[in-house]
Amino acid sequence: MTPVAPGAWLGLLGGGQLGRMFSMAAQSMGYRVVVVDPGGESPAGSVADDHLQADYLDEGALGELARRCSAVTTEFENVPADALRRLADHCTVSPGHQGVAVAQDRIREKRFLVEAGLGTAPFAVIEHESELARIDESLLPGILKIARLGYDGKGQVSVTSREGVLQAFRDMGSKPCVLEKRLKLDLEVSVVVARGFDGATTTFPVAENQHANGILDVSIVPARIPAALAQEARAKAVRVAEALDYRGVLCVEFFVVDGGRLLANEIAPRPHNSGHYSIDACFSSQFEQQARIMCRQPLGDTALNCPVVMVNLLGDLWRDGEPDWSQVLRHPRAKLHLYGKREARPGRKMGHFTVLADSVEEALATATAIKSALSPTPRPAS
Ligand code: ADP
Ligand code: MG
Repeated sequence: MTPVAPGAWLGLLGGGQLGRMFSMAAQSMGYRVVVVDPGGESPAGSVADDHLQADYLDEGALGELARRCSAVTTEFENVPADALRRLADHCTVSPGHQGVAVAQDRIREKRFLVEAGLGTAPFAVIEHESELARIDESLLPGILKIARLGYDGKGQVSVTSREGVLQAFRDMGSKPCVLEKRLKLDLEVSVVVARGFDGATTTFPVAENQHANGILDVSIVPARIPAALAQEARAKAVRVAEALDYRGVLCVEFFVVDGGRLLANEIAPRPHNSGHYSIDACFSSQFEQQARIMCRQPLGDTALNCPVVMVNLLGDLWRDGEPDWSQVLRHPRAKLHLYGKREARPGRKMGHFTVLADSVEEALATATAIKSALSPTPRPAS
């Protein structure tokens, strides 16, 4: 297959911020982007060259994509795998539906990770209430995670007893779940890996991730872990991409436990929030890699130009109105990214900023200062 040259139309399923940043990267290389998203106004739809407002399985929209585009990608984890399968009859689709289907289902994902030889937290699959009686007590206290459609800590309940598991299972609609032992984490890290149609891979530097309320809050790069552990994480991410015969960009989240043991947590079949730093701090961003892969162009260089810290901007910051962005912009090495979402809700990802510096400590100190300057003042206790 010949590469898709700049000027061509690229199709994108999903209109969120990942699609917005993908569109911008692809457009800067001269590609034109058409987005399919059911919403009227979306972060990606508002920057793309065209927006088809339709459901992901809409015959007309999929037909239009297939006619116009030689390559289609997705930015949305839960895009129906069926849409990808149907498009694949007409154009190049990356990632393929098989890899996406594994990552969409925690049960398949966990079993895949075990088979691929990556350690995971101890877990049990619970598909029916009758299986609860056989649950190993050593998994408690644990976290019951719904197998499908969970994200940002949603679809997860902490459980401490067998009765608690039953209650949580029923509360989540008696749908298939994974019960995972709650581990004491030293650290959380992630690796974004890009794999092309020719099987070539590149990994981005390891990000150290801090979460707040189950949502990514801060990514620190390079992660403050020994070089050998970082190397191991990158090699494991490549192993995941290869075992899935994956074409595109994916992210593997890891837990670091017991002072240096890596356990795989989950796979995201797309660019990842913890890889946003690559836009400002790497030669090629995760979104440029996504565009290069779908167009069968060679992969870009993922080397880090300097230490960087990324901070997510959640809707909570808008409590008292639009935040004062001069608090970010007055720093010459801070970069502001807003996703163009009109409505701020608590927990909603509205944007992020990065701080570039000569050391991780310096980047972290500036990022922390900006974060607190942006935060609404706490309301007095009533
Ligand atoms: P999501 O799809 O919401 O990102 P995750 O499985 O990654 O779901 O869980 C979100 C966060 O919850 C993790 O980043 C981690 O901080 C915490 N967490 C999840 N599983 C465990 C576990 N087994 N032990 C300790 N903390 C966990
Ligand atoms: Mg996660």
